Amino acid sequence: MFILSPISKITLDGRDFYIKRDETIDPYLSGNKYRKLYALLQTPKNTFTKVISYGGTQSNAMLALTAICKKKEWEFIYYTKKITPVIKTQKVGNYYDALSLGMKIVELENDLYKEYVSGLRLNLDEKTLLIDQGGADVKAREGLEVLASELREQFKLEEFSEIKAIATPSGTGTTALYLALSLPEYTIYTTPCIGSVSYLKEQMQALDEIPSNLIILESKKKYHFAKLYDEFLEIYEKLERSGVKFDLLYAPAMWLTLLAQTKESVLYVHSGGLSGNASMLERYKRRH
Ligand SMILES: *Cc1c(COP(=O)(O)O)cnc(C)c1O
Repeated sequence: MFILSPISKITLDGRDFYIKRDETIDPYLSGNKYRKLYALLQTPKNTFTKVISYGGTQSNAMLALTAICKKKEWEFIYYTKKITPVIKTQKVGNYYDALSLGMKIVELENDLYKEYVSGLRLNLDEKTLLIDQGGADVKAREGLEVLASELREQFKLEEFSEIKAIATPSGTGTTALYLALSLPEYTIYTTPCIGSVSYLKEQMQALDEIPSNLIILESKKKYHFAKLYDEFLEIYEKLERSGVKFDLLYAPAMWLTLLAQTKESVLYVHSGGLSGNASMLERYKRRH
């Protein structure tokens, strides 16, 4: 499978931005999860019979892994903390979609979770693959190198010649780090959406050295992951009006810092995550 996602241009607050439309790749396996799991997607079926992973109950990585395992006919087992009754009864969202696609869920008592999860790698047979939370793995580099070469091809076109920098939001930082390493001739902006700048740097450094073309922007206000913020919903709606839908967890913080702290012509690599919007929008609605 080879997909070259297009680049769109939008205007936001009077500024032109370019968007690499990676969210259009697939409804379940899209955005940076497609890039990070690219190597796994190329892996022959008979390599594994089972994949296991762990993390949040509405995680985009969880849904992406479910989609790959379904395609490959691998069993997929996902470990989480106790799941709230609201999530269990919802008929939208990543959890609901992943169950429909065949994910097997194992709920762990919250106080046992950490120890149990760190023990998962000790009992693996050769046909079982463990993927760490969020797909934070050195194998992610391969897919980001593919993205980098796609961008290099597209940047040869006259209409994209003014692009000076690239931006994408960070959770584990895997995407931004490997993109920066694969495109040393461009500035790569990112911002931490989960935890502090120093936590993000720690996670990146566990994978590789942070190159000098990777710039971590810090928003003035401290945001907590998966909490609801008026300005997040506001920028989400503004972006939607300008023609492109983004996610409500990562994209808002990245866009707000880009608007406040950069001036040059930026290409935003859409990191996907739209499958989580229905459940996020329900939370925003319930709040008002
Ligand atoms: C997973 C995810 C991220 C974070 O990616 P990392 O490689 O962990 O930094 C950003 N945006 C969206 C929409 C995601 O689903």
